Amino acid sequence: MKDNNNFMERLWRVTDLDNNNYIRCKECGCITGIKLQIGSQAQHPIVVTCGKCGNSMKGKASIDHANAGFKFEFENAEVVDAASADYTVECSGEFPTKKSCEVTDADKMISSPLDSVKNCMKSEQYYEQFAQTIAQLKETESKWSKYRKIFELSQSNSPELISEIQKEFKGPHFQCRNRHETIRAVHMVELLGFYTSIRKDILQNMQFSNDILKLNSSQMKDFIGYLNSHDGYHLDELQSVIYRIYDEFMEIYQNLIPALSLQYCKEDAFDFEEDGTTASTLDSVKQFYIDVYEALGTLLIIPVGFNNIKYRADYNSMSPVDDKVSSMDDFIGQDKAARFNFCLDSEIYTGFLDAKVNAKLRKALENKDYEYDTLKQMITYGDEDGLKKSTEYLLEMEDEAMCMFQAILGISEYMYRMNEAILIFGM
Ligand SMILES: [Zn+2]
Repeated sequence: MKDNNNFMERLWRVTDLDNNNYIRCKECGCITGIKLQIGSQAQHPIVVTCGKCGNSMKGKASIDHANAGFKFEFENAEVVDAASADYTVECSGEFPTKKSCEVTDADKMISSPLDSVKNCMKSEQYYEQFAQTIAQLKETESKWSKYRKIFELSQSNSPELISEIQKEFKGPHFQCRNRHETIRAVHMVELLGFYTSIRKDILQNMQFSNDILKLNSSQMKDFIGYLNSHDGYHLDELQSVIYRIYDEFMEIYQNLIPALSLQYCKEDAFDFEEDGTTASTLDSVKQFYIDVYEALGTLLIIPVGFNNIKYRADYNSMSPVDDKVSSMDDFIGQDKAARFNFCLDSEIYTGFLDAKVNAKLRKALENKDYEYDTLKQMITYGDEDGLKKSTEYLLEMEDEAMCMFQAILGISEYMYRMNEAILIFGM
């Protein structure tokens, strides 16, 4: 058995402030000392907010685990030799940390990061699971160009698909002797790339997704016919929406890792007023937030159709949520915000997704109708009439983005089951 403490000590420790850890803001010249929590990644984005002028100093941290060394590079700050700093920040590529503070407040900083990480986790086993998740995402990143090619060839029904799959994967799941085995092999790539790391619950409850095949098959056939006769909702168009968002996620996933850590930590482990992220800026994740919201809003038709079949025996019979929406045609006539009213916890195919959406924030981001305080990491945005203001912290927004992405992974499993149904029942 692995010694958990050694494992943790090796991964999550914090650097001392020494000569190498000072940066000078290029905007105001102020010096910030950086205490870096060394995590499991060899390289990750780092964003330090200048405590004086609020400049977001963006860079990357490279960690040499074997030699216990590390270095920083910044775009808009310079690494300097200094004996003291005006501000001190603690940075982590993996966990929320205290937001930038003046040196005199530095005692607020984590004195024993190992204890702190231990205390915030839901239970002991979560340390290792979280480190594994990060390692699995890294593995996906390293193979992403190959995975993406498999998805592209699958979309274009290319004769090269099978050889491309077998270049990368061996074993009984990748024999591709018929159409069914081939679509299963393509789905296995999603499973290995994403489900094993951030949607384990799908794998732990295969009965749930197998049961999709038990939904009324003539209703399922009609539903698939409905989708395939509406532009933007053909099964292959919906599949492209999924693959495109995977690609975007791989570009920015490291920015979201501190938000992902929240899923492994106790609910009250962090206070968003005091704790923020040092792995992203609003700009680095804003477009992903908008796109993942839009993608989920488009894909939601699938679980909504399944719920209609399961609970009302008719894919076209909507849950009585909104008087104006009584059919699928009504549903797709709504904007995305109104469609999310049908993302019900009380009905299983939407409930399973565990999506978190904030339609007002998404609209404000798109319309650039918000203010952002880089020090507090707080977004202030207006409601429709522009009178009442709402606020949300960057980490909360990233948590929503992560959960929306995970919801899409759930829908991709549903898509796979629909494709299986087409083959099994000859739809
Ligand atoms: Zn500054």
